[in-house]
Amino acid sequence: MLVIGSGAAGLTAAVTAERAGARVAVAAKGSLQSCNSAKAQGGIQAAFGEDDSPEQHAEDVWRSSHETADRSLVEVLTSEARPAIHWLEELGVEFTRSNGGYRLARCGGASRKRLLQVGDRTGHAITKALRDAWSAGGGTSFEHSPLRELEQTASGWRATCGDHVVDASTVVLAAGGRCFAEARARHELSTNHPGATGEVTQMALGLGAEARDLDALQYHPNGGAWPANMQGYSIPETTRAYGAILVNADGEEFVDSLAPRDVVSQAIFDEVEKGKGVETPDGRPAVWLDTTRIEPADAEVSLPYMLRRYRAAGIDPLAERILTYPVLHYQNGGLVIDADAETTLEGVYACGEIAGGTHGRNRMMGNSLLECVVFGRRAGRAAAEKARA
Ligand SMILES: Cc1cc2nc3c(=O)[nH]c(=O)nc-3n(C[C@H](O)[C@H](O)[C@H](O)COP(=O)(O)OP(=O)(O)OC[C@H]3O[C@@H](n4cnc5c(N)ncnc54)[C@H](O)[C@@H]3O)c2cc1C
Repeated sequence: MLVIGSGAAGLTAAVTAERAGARVAVAAKGSLQSCNSAKAQGGIQAAFGEDDSPEQHAEDVWRSSHETADRSLVEVLTSEARPAIHWLEELGVEFTRSNGGYRLARCGGASRKRLLQVGDRTGHAITKALRDAWSAGGGTSFEHSPLRELEQTASGWRATCGDHVVDASTVVLAAGGRCFAEARARHELSTNHPGATGEVTQMALGLGAEARDLDALQYHPNGGAWPANMQGYSIPETTRAYGAILVNADGEEFVDSLAPRDVVSQAIFDEVEKGKGVETPDGRPAVWLDTTRIEPADAEVSLPYMLRRYRAAGIDPLAERILTYPVLHYQNGGLVIDADAETTLEGVYACGEIAGGTHGRNRMMGNSLLECVVFGRRAGRAAAEKARA
């Protein structure tokens, strides 16, 4: 069995398949470490709060997607969230805790506090644990081996990955989204890793796979706008979860800072369009994120990396507001999958950002890492089983 991609989705599928008894190889475009998953800061959603439930979580996803998500995939996502978190803990991920339970934050579009965090480097912690688990097993890694060709054979699939030609009965596509390439084409900033270029989706489409909502790209409402070295940095949404608000040039709050992402981004675009934005010293549009409202104790626990980065650049977000503007961030749509993460091509699975349906046309924060783990586990199990059959 072959897995394309070494982000949270690919490594979850690979570790799961190997533990299910399959012979597994992972091919990645760069090193195993280089991926968007490792850059994720804010957190991962799961309904652990006393006032919360997987059904409530599913309802929030449905509303935030503006009723465009695939409800059967959403149900899988939210009902398997708690087991996914426990699985990550077994691999060694230590989620931040407070008052005897998980420290939970409320993210945009959520009706409850549901976001688990590992400080503000959640993706780093998850991908490190997954890499450790993968390296401890007996699978093969082909680093610096981008998938260049995929063709069907009598017994499965033949993939050309860099200099390697791999025959596999089943293939898991976990090559992420395309926002780095898209931003470059639009001459815009992106939060994404340079590997996020989307060619694997194109290959699958060329083979006849179905896709959905591919045109729906997500802007992260809070890209760093100034200082220059913070441009393209995604200011964690947890700043807003812990009290920061968006204000215009006159200091007026112009949007519910915890509304769904597309609503918040559009409100910022509109405010700037109305002439109520501010300009960065290098002439870019922006509004203020008033981070001075965050309690220092919350910031220390949940935003230490963000604070370090801004302070190193000469700005203390707890003492002064910071400049922000939406930045291209996430591919909402992708390859059509069923509940086992199989695409419309037999024996080809897809999980993580490359797959569509779970978020419809607008993803909630914290559901992407969750999707990687929930559907990565399902893809790994199903692909291993089919490979054995
Ligand atoms: C800055 C940032 C912050 C984020 N914060 C959060 C957050 O707090 N919570 C949350 O849930 N989500 C967050 N996200 C979104 C989330 O991190 C990603 O959507 C998710 O991790 C994608 O995982 P993935 O495994 O599908 O893809 P990736 O992690 O992007 O991995 C893709 C893999 O595929 C490989 N690849 C690409 N093309 C090829 C090819 N041709 N051949 C072989 N390999 C290839 C890459 O090298 C890489 O290994 C954030 C994203 C960014 C960029």
